[in-house]
Amino acid sequence: MTTLEDFKVTKTKQSKLPSMNFDDIPFGKYFTDHMLVADYENGEWGSVSIQPYQSITIDPSCAALHYGQAIFEGVKAYRNQQHEVCIFRPYENFKRFNISARRMEMPDIPEEIFVNGMKQLVKLDEKWVPEKHDFSLYIRPFMFSTDEAIGVKPGSRYKFMIILSPTGPYYSAPMRIYAEEKYVRAAKGGVGFAKVAGNYAASLLATSEAKRKGYDQILWMDANEHKYVQECGTMNVFFIIGNKAITPDLDQGTILAGVTRDSVIRLIEDMGMQVEERPLSIDEIIEAFRKEELREVFGTGTAATISMIKELRYKDFVMNFDINNWSVAPKIKSRLDNIKEGKEEDKFGWMVKI
Ligand SMILES: *Cc1c(COP(=O)(O)O)cnc(C)c1O
Repeated sequence: MTTLEDFKVTKTKQSKLPSMNFDDIPFGKYFTDHMLVADYENGEWGSVSIQPYQSITIDPSCAALHYGQAIFEGVKAYRNQQHEVCIFRPYENFKRFNISARRMEMPDIPEEIFVNGMKQLVKLDEKWVPEKHDFSLYIRPFMFSTDEAIGVKPGSRYKFMIILSPTGPYYSAPMRIYAEEKYVRAAKGGVGFAKVAGNYAASLLATSEAKRKGYDQILWMDANEHKYVQECGTMNVFFIIGNKAITPDLDQGTILAGVTRDSVIRLIEDMGMQVEERPLSIDEIIEAFRKEELREVFGTGTAATISMIKELRYKDFVMNFDINNWSVAPKIKSRLDNIKEGKEEDKFGWMVKI
């Protein structure tokens, strides 16, 4: 286990903490006092340092800006009832980060830098982890190519960084979702399974158009037939049909393998309900709705954990749900909250102490 002494640590001279108002911290707006930086050059990761949070300089020819070799992760740290700070399943994000890296022809990051670096950084900025219910510290690891030359080719220099952002009670209002037929997010053989920057840029236009129609997010469908559902905005999606939970499978490589998705699958199974990971067509969803068997629809992801979907529209067919009668989504949400807050035994070993 690496200790702070193993990384070069430069502490800030003046903490921003006293000027923070924790009653008003919109998601992703404020950053803590420190950040982690590691540089890759000549085939290896060089020195790792923790420094005061600050701007970095980038050459105008920086390859990532032109050709988009850039990946990221989203992780959260929580302070539990026992006042300990724990990170939720960071090893899963570590594995997924390297899956994204390989797809983008970028170097793997060692666990030592990703997980232990993250722990050390969070430890240094521990006071930024709020104790209040539903508050957390959002952790954003990312990597991009820093080659200073124009030309499409894999980079030879990369920068890996971790920044931290305290986040308030992420109240996610029940969403209205539009099943998208014109634009696609991911095709088989593409990069849908990777957390790569370009996927999000490519989703903005479709999301804006859905917003103009009065919807909050998009339900993405498969690229070939526009028939099978994939995911919802930047969340995985679950459908409770009859007495089963159904979520699209990961086999096509078009869906991000969410850590929350995996956690929700395990909790649903733990509650004695069957989970099916398989292709799910919009026709089957509509059919289940017509038969009054479609009971709940919700999205899962690190930012909001569980977001209920109160309306789903496909073409002119609108499905409305009475979320007050739901049982699965609220139960899963509260179990996840309880595990994070140390109120329920962490029997899956998800919480990693810093
Ligand atoms: C990050 C992300 C998710 C959710 O993954 P978690 O690990 O649960 O946060 C789902 N879909 C997309 C496209 C994502 O980027």
